[in-house]
Amino acid sequence: MSAEIMYGDVLANKLRDELKIEVQQLKRQNIVPKLTVLIIGNNPASKTYVRMKQKACEKVGISSQVIELDQEISEEELLLHINELNNDSSVHGILVQLPLPDHINEKRILEYIEPTKDVDGFHPINIGRMQIGQDALVPCTPLGIMKLLEYYGINPTGKHAVVVGRSNIVGKPVGQLLLNGNATVTYCHSKTSNLSEITNKADILIVATGKANTIGESDLKEGAIVVDVGNTFLDDGRVVGDVDFESVKNKVSKITPVPKGVGPMTITMLLHNTVKVAKTFKY
Ligand code: NDP
Repeated sequence: MSAEIMYGDVLANKLRDELKIEVQQLKRQNIVPKLTVLIIGNNPASKTYVRMKQKACEKVGISSQVIELDQEISEEELLLHINELNNDSSVHGILVQLPLPDHINEKRILEYIEPTKDVDGFHPINIGRMQIGQDALVPCTPLGIMKLLEYYGINPTGKHAVVVGRSNIVGKPVGQLLLNGNATVTYCHSKTSNLSEITNKADILIVATGKANTIGESDLKEGAIVVDVGNTFLDDGRVVGDVDFESVKNKVSKITPVPKGVGPMTITMLLHNTVKVAKTFKY
């Protein structure tokens, strides 16, 4: 059996074309969707991610502003910047690029962002609302995974979904969305005993460990649907996922590639969330 490859870039391009039209419609009503990104310090990876987000915004007509702040900025000063953006009605989305310098309390910063402008979906109010099935700004990677599954005709209802990884930004929320979608969900993590025994029972397997080759051919059941969230940069410049793609590709029924899988969907969902706010999103 040869697996169907679930290309995130294909769906991402389609959704970005749709967003472009929505942005044009908003502009006709004198609403210009705007995303402001705060970046602190000179982390090269963070700078690359911010540039990618900025470029993606420009392509669909979202106005993007990047505020570069000094590595040594105090927590109070950073809060003042966020406060200003919270109160600026021309700003729809606020994103603080992570990771933050060690002297800044990430939890305090993320909780200070106005929840209805929290386009990363990391604010406890958004996480809580998502958990109880209320409208919310949903974290971008989990939302992108759900859209990808839907596009490829996968309905989670009644399926056993196994999520490997329990981070607040990927593992936990994607499991919650799958549960909301009526899957039976099992979470695994680095302390899980018999990981392979559990992943072998998955109809849908989401892998988000950040460790290349966490999952190989013997860890899957025949016909499983696999979403590989991992992004590991090798010394030779290649990027690989958490799943040994070559060894599993003839055993699974559907699988996302790395690159061109989940990654393009994540940024697209950031655009989606920004447009959602611009359309006067209220709880
Ligand atoms: P974290 O490091 O925050 O979390 C990793 C999770 O995986 C933890 O829960 C950890 O368990 C678990 N884990 C680690 N090793 C193993 C193992 N051998 N077996 C089972 N579980 C394990 O990472 P993130 O969730 O932030 O990201 C995960 C990956 O996804 C990374 O490669 C990241 O780059 C990528 N990513 C990709 C995105 C995209 O758009 N494509 C977006 C976001 C992330 P424990 O909790 O016990 O430590």
